[in-house]
Amino acid sequence: MGDIPNFFISQPRTINGAPMFKKKIGFDEFNELAVAENTFSLMWFNDYSGTAIKTHEKTIVIDPVDIVKGPRPDMILISHSHFDHYDARVVETLRQKETVIIASKEVRIEGAKSIGVGDVIQEDGIRIFAEKSVHPGEMPLTFVLELGNSVIYHAIDSQTFDGMREIGEKYKPDVAIVPIGIAPSTSPDAGARAVQLIRPKVAIPHHAKRGFEEFESKVGELAPETKVVVLRKGEIYTYSAGMP
Ligand SMILES: [Zn+2]
Repeated sequence: MGDIPNFFISQPRTINGAPMFKKKIGFDEFNELAVAENTFSLMWFNDYSGTAIKTHEKTIVIDPVDIVKGPRPDMILISHSHFDHYDARVVETLRQKETVIIASKEVRIEGAKSIGVGDVIQEDGIRIFAEKSVHPGEMPLTFVLELGNSVIYHAIDSQTFDGMREIGEKYKPDVAIVPIGIAPSTSPDAGARAVQLIRPKVAIPHHAKRGFEEFESKVGELAPETKVVVLRKGEIYTYSAGMP
């Protein structure tokens, strides 16, 4: 038996440049990451809204599905009950004794704090604001996360709506994570229009298997002052307050 060249072992298979890690996605690098103050690191880990965020002190996981292990979260956020956003088994797997779970009112998890549009929950210096989502479902949410000096707007799988302009003006997000596919009325173009309304410094496309390049070029037309960061699954992006 000949040796298998290393290339074939270490090279992930890809669809449109995004590695197909799915359930095998590795969190080791993320877990060991040391994050400076006024900085956060962010990782997208499935085809949907699955996002892990790490600050100097805390780890937050949003809508974890399609993983069998992950970081030890101080906080888990659940936007709505659709299967691509909420999997009770994954929540139970990730959950530690002290993990604070914040979930849309439509999601029933024992010990979780319920949150609805307009509500704010403050935990350990992190503020979570629940905002509107235009998406089928009972009470779907989008989230604003205030992490010290930085603000992230996570648009989950909402379609683009006019109120995103007010969300942009109110919170002035540094980073916006916008959907560009899979959910109703989402697309690379719609995602770029969301960026145009929100006007973040950095835009990260998600909730898609393809269309990343299209999104990037459309943002270049509609919101040239926003920098697009296309994350491959499992890749870590680090943002420091005040960037870019
Ligand atoms: Zn949904």
